[in-house]
Amino acid sequence: MLSIDSTAVQNQTGQQYLPSTDHTQGVRSPNQELLPLSAKINSHDCLEIGGCDVKTLVEQFGSPLYILDEETLRTACRQYRDAFAQYYPGESLVLYASKAWNCLAVCAIAASEGLGIDVVSGGELYTALQAGVPGNKLYLHGNNKSIAELALAIENNCTIVVDNWLELETLANIADEPIRIMLRLTPGIECHTHEYIRTGHLDSKFGFDPNTLDEVFAFVSQHPTLNCIGLHAHIGSQIFESQPHKDLPGVLVDYLTKAYRYDLPIQELNVGGGLGMRYTESDDPPSIDEWVKGVCEAMVKACEEQQLPLPRLLSEPGRSLIGPACVTAYTLGSYKTIPEIRTYLAVDGGMSDNPRPITYQSVYRAVVANRMSAPLTQTVTLAGKHCESGDILIKNATLPETEPGDVLVVMGTGAYNYSMASNYNRLPRPAAVLVNAGEAELILERETYQDVIRLDRLPKRLV
Ligand SMILES: *Cc1c(COP(=O)(O)O)cnc(C)c1O
Repeated sequence: MLSIDSTAVQNQTGQQYLPSTDHTQGVRSPNQELLPLSAKINSHDCLEIGGCDVKTLVEQFGSPLYILDEETLRTACRQYRDAFAQYYPGESLVLYASKAWNCLAVCAIAASEGLGIDVVSGGELYTALQAGVPGNKLYLHGNNKSIAELALAIENNCTIVVDNWLELETLANIADEPIRIMLRLTPGIECHTHEYIRTGHLDSKFGFDPNTLDEVFAFVSQHPTLNCIGLHAHIGSQIFESQPHKDLPGVLVDYLTKAYRYDLPIQELNVGGGLGMRYTESDDPPSIDEWVKGVCEAMVKACEEQQLPLPRLLSEPGRSLIGPACVTAYTLGSYKTIPEIRTYLAVDGGMSDNPRPITYQSVYRAVVANRMSAPLTQTVTLAGKHCESGDILIKNATLPETEPGDVLVVMGTGAYNYSMASNYNRLPRPAAVLVNAGEAELILERETYQDVIRLDRLPKRLV
């Protein structure tokens, strides 16, 4: 049963997904586009990103392939930074929430745009340090940090965002010199997003319960090595409503007035991340500029009401910064048509390079990179190659007629794709290339079969 009326899609093509060329409103907000800002169709009717022909990239670097557009990533970084500078009269700092895609090149690009980096583990922290990001621009998150992770952060002069009592007590015990901490508090703000990516409601594993604030602040004030410079809250991810993020500054400022009663030297308030991005035509997130404006105005208003000086304002976008900058290119292979039911087209990757559909029922859009202007005439289900019936990338994708060997591009795969990738079924992880102005550079090598068995040990008696 094809769910999309075939006459309705006849006159549509892959062109519909190109970024808007209407520049009267200035540069578009990347999180409102399906394809990276540099996407074009070239004279061979092929999709081009960063001036590179996608089909040629696949021939050169193999398949599947993550293709990261530097222009889109840098534009998103600048839009965040510039909007804070424009709408917030105090100091501000944007941190890239690197769990969305933490690797050397992405950390280096974000840092080169003046962003700090938020990391959630020793591995992410190590990567950011290796990328040359100074420790004082790194913020370590996590609800169960190990002693080794805390020590690595302290050694490198990072700020630790303390999540819970055990961590607070551990830090009080191990610090012999003052260490910079922030306190993560659950703001008690509900928002409409998938249950697994909602973190702000009271029943969340993250952060201190706001009903225990007095005890937390009293404890910190009694430990001079805990130099508490800020408060933090994060309400969730892929959020399209603007109200939750406009409510958050008021909640943080209320917590701040309480902290001042304990003489805590707080200068920073961090509103977390969570702005959504467009994965399908029906997704309509606010622009980066609108989102920042709403947060800044709410913060200024809340501080005026409480007659407090403006704190340094931090935010931590992940998905909306990196998500729209990348696409994944696959090669189409086998197919199976079940009459009156559906056609499956298989790609050479799947849940190992993009676990979001199977984990969160996430919906994506795809184009055939080498047939961008061909009419969309079929509705198919794009299946991964893993041994799981649930390994479906896209249900009911509308595509032109295809042949095995065509290059399928799934859009909006920059966030929580590579960073969540696995070797399930022992598939080597794909390569990633950074494209810009006609140049493509490898930023993550494709794994080999040797990589796949690199950590295997075969006891001698088994040989
Ligand atoms: C995941 C996370 C972010 C980033 O969220 P996005 O929705 O990707 O912007 C920011 N801060 C914290 C604490 C997070 O856990």
